Amino acid sequence: MIRNNVKVVAFDADDTLWVNETYFREAENEFASLLSNYETENKIHQELFKKEIKNLPLYGYGIKGFVLSMMECALEISNGNLPSEILSKIIDIGKDMLDKPVVVLDNVESVLQSLSKKYKLIVATKGDLLDQEKKLKKSGILQYFHHIEVMSEKKEEDYTKLLKHLDIKPKDFLMIGNSLKSDVLPILNIGAQAIHVPFHTTWQYEEVNSNSINEDYITIKSIKHLLNYI
Ligand SMILES: [Mg+2]
Repeated sequence: MIRNNVKVVAFDADDTLWVNETYFREAENEFASLLSNYETENKIHQELFKKEIKNLPLYGYGIKGFVLSMMECALEISNGNLPSEILSKIIDIGKDMLDKPVVVLDNVESVLQSLSKKYKLIVATKGDLLDQEKKLKKSGILQYFHHIEVMSEKKEEDYTKLLKHLDIKPKDFLMIGNSLKSDVLPILNIGAQAIHVPFHTTWQYEEVNSNSINEDYITIKSIKHLLNYI
């Protein structure tokens, strides 16, 4: 249950405030069909995922690193015989992703409006700095937030650093997000509170094995239910 002393409510952005994973899924499908002359689509999906995970420490999260991983994966799958036309199409997949409209999820704005009267609201998101800043501007909900933090990782030490920097005590902090791995479990481990709001699609990398799940958090079906808890 949520303890009553919350002062700061932090929101994850991708798939918590707005649609994101859906665009990655569409891009992966487009990529797999572009290369379907070389491999089965299933195998292409697997290879791309492996490449992304391998490249995460170098490129971080976000679309630009994803494009570089698609290119590298395509070069390997085609044994170095990649027509320049396919390479251009991969670049276009990435540019189209960066240009997608920001679709704010249902009830997000009314919840922010209501919570902003009682709490300090912040955004704590992974991803590419420029892209996340653009999305926030396009989203029309920037005015509800006191602070935006684009983080390169969301592990315990990253949250500890953020809280220290903003002078927030863990017991006063509540995190809302769609990823158990990034938005909930590390938060509980530093003595703060978290509410899980699942999105219908989760990136394989963000999935957690149920053994590591601690029961000390609430899962809600829609962000509008947040108002029943705080
Ligand atoms: Mg998310």
